[in-house]
Amino acid sequence: MKKYNHIFFDLDHTLWDFKTNSRHTLVEIYTHFNLEDRGVESERLFIEVYEKYNHRMWADYRNGKMSKKTLRTERFRQSLYHVGVKDVALSLEIADYYVDNSPVKTTLFPGAIDVLSELNSRYEMHIITNGFEEIQDIKMTQSGLHPFFNAVITSEKAGAKKPHPAIFEYSLKLANATPEESLMIGDNQLVDIEGAQKIGMDGVFFNPEEEDKLVIPCYEVKSLKELLNFL
Ligand SMILES: [Mg+2]
Repeated sequence: MKKYNHIFFDLDHTLWDFKTNSRHTLVEIYTHFNLEDRGVESERLFIEVYEKYNHRMWADYRNGKMSKKTLRTERFRQSLYHVGVKDVALSLEIADYYVDNSPVKTTLFPGAIDVLSELNSRYEMHIITNGFEEIQDIKMTQSGLHPFFNAVITSEKAGAKKPHPAIFEYSLKLANATPEESLMIGDNQLVDIEGAQKIGMDGVFFNPEEEDKLVIPCYEVKSLKELLNFL
């Protein structure tokens, strides 16, 4: 008898290739808003600085220290300031452009659709994400992911963010699943894997960049296709 009945996937950096889609949008922004003429030396510098600020501010958002609205604008205001562009109005325009254009990008990790099609015949599948409700819905619609999933649980809907146990418990309840028959697949060891394993679910660490391990997962894969070795 197979062990699992329910698979819970993280979305960003696990199925939807966040880094690639985000970088494409940042390159568009660089051109669209003439950042070169405003003194930003290269696309690469803009991307590097933005990713650093975004990463830091996302951690604050996850810990409840920053609101969604502040996160969305401050990451651009501060990274532009860092590269010498002191223009609050422009940073607000860019923030809007990013939120409008990044989620419609459709790059998924290699094999995503094939693997999901295969797993879909054997498991009930769901998404658990800390991303914003309306944004995640656009990403899933545009990239054709919706048909594979029963429920899409966002932290906004659950009232708690991963790794808080409440969002995993909320998700299990919604799926009518027990922790023992459930598997969580995600790229963030502390948020996805440790969070799930703490409430008794098994975790799969999706680790395409071969990061050092901070937590011992039940399984580790470097590509989505490797999931089919044991599921
Ligand atoms: Mg993720």
